[in-house]
Parts: sequence; C-alpha cells; structure tokens
Amino acid sequence: MSFTLDHDLALAWLRAAAAAVEQQHERLTELDAAIGDGDHGSNLRRGFAAVTEALAALPADTPPGELLTKAGATLISKVGGASGPLYGSALRTAGRSLPAPTADPTALAESLRAGLTAVQKLGGAAVGDKTMVDAFEPAVAALERAAFDGFSLREAAALAAEAAEAGARATVPLEARKGRASYLGPRSVGHQDPGATSTALLFRALADATGR
Ligand code: ADP
Ligand code: MG
Repeated sequence: MSFTLDHDLALAWLRAAAAAVEQQHERLTELDAAIGDGDHGSNLRRGFAAVTEALAALPADTPPGELLTKAGATLISKVGGASGPLYGSALRTAGRSLPAPTADPTALAESLRAGLTAVQKLGGAAVGDKTMVDAFEPAVAALERAAFDGFSLREAAALAAEAAEAGARATVPLEARKGRASYLGPRSVGHQDPGATSTALLFRALADATGR
C-alpha cells in the first residue's frame, strides 16, 4: 500500500485509468451520443492507449509529476475533441506542480487543484454547467478536506472518487451551459454528462491504485 504518490503509484494510476477507459469507452460514447457527438469514449480510448505507450518508454526513475506531465502532453496531441486539451492541460499542470520524488495528500490536492484551475481557465466552465468540472471540483475539494484532516492517501483518494461519482450523477438534471451539449439547451436535461462520468472514472482509478 502506498502512503504517498511516488513513481509506482502514479504509473499504476495512469494504467488503471487507461484500463477503465478501455473497459467503459462504449458507455462514455453512449452518453456523448445522447447530448454530444458520440465520440467521448473513442477520444479517450485513443488518448489513453497513447498515454500507456508513452509512459512505457520512460525510465523507471521518472518522477510522478513527469509521468502526469507526459500523459497530459500525449492527450493534448492525440485527442481532437474538447476533452483532450482539457484533460491534457489538467494533467500537465498538475504534473508540473507535483513535488518529487513523492507527493503526500496535501501536495496531491494542491496539484490537482492547479489542474482543475487550468481546465476552468481553458474551458470557462463553473460547477453546475454540466461538464467534467462538476465531478472534478468536488473530488478536489474532498481530497483537500481529507488531507487537512490527516487522512491517508488511500482514504483521501476513496473520498475523492465518491465525491466525483456523486458529482457526475448530479449532472443528470442540469442543463448544459458549456461544450457541445449546450447547443441542445433544455434537451440536455435528463442525461449524465460524459466528461463528468470519465472524470469519476479517473478518480476511481486513483483510489483503486492506492488500494493495491
Ligand atoms: P467534444 O465535445 O469535442 O466532442 P468530447 O466528446 O471528448 O469532446 O468531450 C465532451 C466532454 O467534455 C463533455 O461531456 C464535458 O464534460 C467536457 N467539456 C466540453 N466543453 C467543456 C468546457 N468548456 N469546460 C469543461 N468541460 C468541457
Ligand atoms: Mg464528443
């Protein structure tokens, strides 16, 4: 069990994220077919397959922040949809602010907050706009609270995953105000946002990786 985010855990996280995307890409695409253009699953599948390949080429002593930065840069270059640059900036920004060789829960929360801020700067979305921010923000807030309360990384990651999942579910009754889904106006109501759903997968992947 890992107590801090080191090379091994960062790699396990990104691999678990790639595996989750591979397993759930059809669901993500179905969600995007309902309120977008039906490519979210295939976008992330292609992106995370490239991430897995890029990470395998890095030396075994690569610091965790550099793994995240590389993953982010890869997503930016491989994913054409809105989600590629958004997730790419999140991971790149988070990776750049992670301390080496390891990050404790407080440092991880700070770097993911920086990643979320990058998403919000780039996409202009706030909580309630029915985007990935609706899962990302509560997950980071849960991580910050857990770190402040002295929880272990494993406990903090589990709380963040639960918060992200609740945030994703809470997008169902919302009307989209950003991204393609906003073109539908009130017809976007009643569907879970695909990007919030994939954000929940990414936080669940972190929780799973810390539990191994
Ligand atoms: P595209 O919309 O270009 O087809 P994807 O289908 O891969 O890209 O991703 C769609 C998801 O991206 C949405 O479900 C939403 O969560 C997220 N998204 C789109 N626009 C924004 C934005 N401006 N800010 C934050 N997230 C966004
Ligand atoms: Mg799409």
